[in-house]
Amino acid sequence: MDYRARFLVDPLKKLSLADIDPDDTGDIDKEKAAELTATYLQRMEEDQFLLYADGRQSLLVVLQALDAAGKDGVIRHVFSAMNPQGTRVHGFKQPTPLEAAHDFLWRAHAQVPAAGEVVIFNRSHYEDVLVVRVHDLVPREVWSQRYETINAFERLLAENGTRVLKFFLHISPDEQLERFKKRLDDPRRHWKISESDYSERKFWPQYIEAYEEALVKTSTLTAPWYVIPSDHKWFRNLAVSQIIAETLEEMGLELPPTRVNIDEIKLHYHAAVKAANGNGNGNGKKTT
Ligand code: AMP
Ligand code: MG
Repeated sequence: MDYRARFLVDPLKKLSLADIDPDDTGDIDKEKAAELTATYLQRMEEDQFLLYADGRQSLLVVLQALDAAGKDGVIRHVFSAMNPQGTRVHGFKQPTPLEAAHDFLWRAHAQVPAAGEVVIFNRSHYEDVLVVRVHDLVPREVWSQRYETINAFERLLAENGTRVLKFFLHISPDEQLERFKKRLDDPRRHWKISESDYSERKFWPQYIEAYEEALVKTSTLTAPWYVIPSDHKWFRNLAVSQIIAETLEEMGLELPPTRVNIDEIKLHYHAAVKAANGNGNGNGKKTT
């Protein structure tokens, strides 16, 4: 199944998240999904190698979701296919005083990928039209202008060779509660628990409303949003990895041309081998 087509947010249609089932697993079972996911991860590994070698374009993956929807899980999963060299994760917390003293895109712009890089945003500049809206941290006149500002910012990134992929991990309130329970039951997960998990849960409808508007207003050709049904981790990982792999494959990535004369370098190599054999190689052994 083509998940890019299926889960893309259409900017011309009203989005109702209630109509998208977080429990959806397409037409696939867990075993088949694991097989397919492994092939997408392999393709991503090859693609990231090419992106880095090519050095002309970059990829920014934005992850947004309510608590416990699996942002951390996606990061672990996606990056299991990538070389740490050339990849980076940036998490967005409550703005520091320095960040808060700047425009809202300042801290995001500073973290976008350089040419050749893959960067994942764990939360992002979208918090400034989500948590900020839900909790009235700035007036409506301020946050409601930001969709346009965000689109202009992401267009700038596109013009500079950055592909932007944005995922909203969609879980149900029941699944969230289930995951909160797991955290409580497992001492190894206690560090993940915060008071705000429960206080934010009370604002679920307000968050959904804020997401619906943000996703529709900022889903563009160069920086599309995808709503990923995420009650099942295995399905979430499959959909995200397919979308990333197929996007990378459209980017026309190529190995750069060789910068040296290989025939000349071969002569250097043979001379070096000869010298090593003639003079010994320092440990008394002869190399053949
Ligand atoms: P976590 O992702 O669990 O580490 O939590 C990070 C927290 O920072 C979340 O509660 C976010 O809503 C909050 N946060 C991120 N960006 C902003 C922002 N621009 N303004 C206010 N709170 C934010
Ligand atoms: Mg949290």
